[in-house]
Amino acid sequence: MRAIRAREIIVHPRRPPVDDGAVVFDAGRVVASGAAHDVLRDFSGPVEDLGPVTVTPGLINAHVHLELSHVAGGTARGQGFTAWLRSLIGNSLGKLSQLALDKAIAQMRACGTVAVIDVTSRNTALVAEALEAADIGGLLAVEFFGFADAGALRWPVDLDALSATAREHVAAAGHALYSTHPETLRAAKAWCVRHGRPFVMHLAEHPDETEQLLTGKGEFARLLRKAGVLPEDWAAPGCRPVAYADRLGLLDKQTMAVHCVQLDQGDIATLAARGCAVCLCPRSNEYIAVGRAPWRALDEAGVPLCLGTDGLSSNQDLSLWNEAAALLRAPGGPGFFQVLEWMTLNPARLLGAEHLYGTLEPGAVAGYSIVPDGAIRAA
Ligand SMILES: [Zn+2]
Repeated sequence: MRAIRAREIIVHPRRPPVDDGAVVFDAGRVVASGAAHDVLRDFSGPVEDLGPVTVTPGLINAHVHLELSHVAGGTARGQGFTAWLRSLIGNSLGKLSQLALDKAIAQMRACGTVAVIDVTSRNTALVAEALEAADIGGLLAVEFFGFADAGALRWPVDLDALSATAREHVAAAGHALYSTHPETLRAAKAWCVRHGRPFVMHLAEHPDETEQLLTGKGEFARLLRKAGVLPEDWAAPGCRPVAYADRLGLLDKQTMAVHCVQLDQGDIATLAARGCAVCLCPRSNEYIAVGRAPWRALDEAGVPLCLGTDGLSSNQDLSLWNEAAALLRAPGGPGFFQVLEWMTLNPARLLGAEHLYGTLEPGAVAGYSIVPDGAIRAA
């Protein structure tokens, strides 16, 4: 048994913080939390006094591509999605190094990340092993991509290469509407429904995607055809991304749509009506220069929001506090406790793991995060 003590502890993001709080851990779980004078009264084990800091529940990074950690700094910045994609595919995407992976995981651990929703299609076993070694849980969202094998789920990874624990945390994921056959996306979603796992896909990230789906034309569609992703005979569905995803039956309470920058009022109403969660990745959107997600309108419509850093292929680091700061420091940004829910309770609910993540109540995993500086909290 061991305990921590701090000037302020947020045991539950929806309850007032506890001044001079303490948390006791045993066998990888929280066993007691609350006011230090109560929690530590009969406790005789070691107590680490963290001092004048605010402790929160461990964080959940809801969108990462750890397999692209080695691409850090190797992509076009601020020039739009088509330019970014062109630069991305210029890298050796399959050549993840252990060093780059370890560095990425160290960044996540340093900010108190206890779980991730990691999107993966290459080097999955390597990533799964590193997450397990770092005691980071969550979901391995194995991504289906391309227009070949319509509707057939040919797993891009050998699931047998994963440990039994990792296999329990696998889900089928879809890359995006513009890159993946609609029947494959439906099959991936159906797999998730059958197995009771969340379904994840990129959606409405950039204006080039909207143009492609509406018209079938544009520089982006040309690039995808040239790269052999989009078949020559592909016909545009003629509707906006969210409407198309909805028509395919991909949106419900067990789906998390990632990015959702390019939304109109109708799209927001659709996402809210389906109960679909949305993962915001503000620094990735800024890096690629695709716009800003309408987080306030989504939040007011009742869409559960989550927060992700995205991969190092479109971000400077994997610190969720830095991600939160990008929103909190913006004029008219959300409040601290609002964003804290996006990094704790909301993704925990999506994962069906509220008993493990999102709070520091007894039974939760023995992880926590320290708010890095007063500036974020005060904002
Ligand atoms: Zn992504």
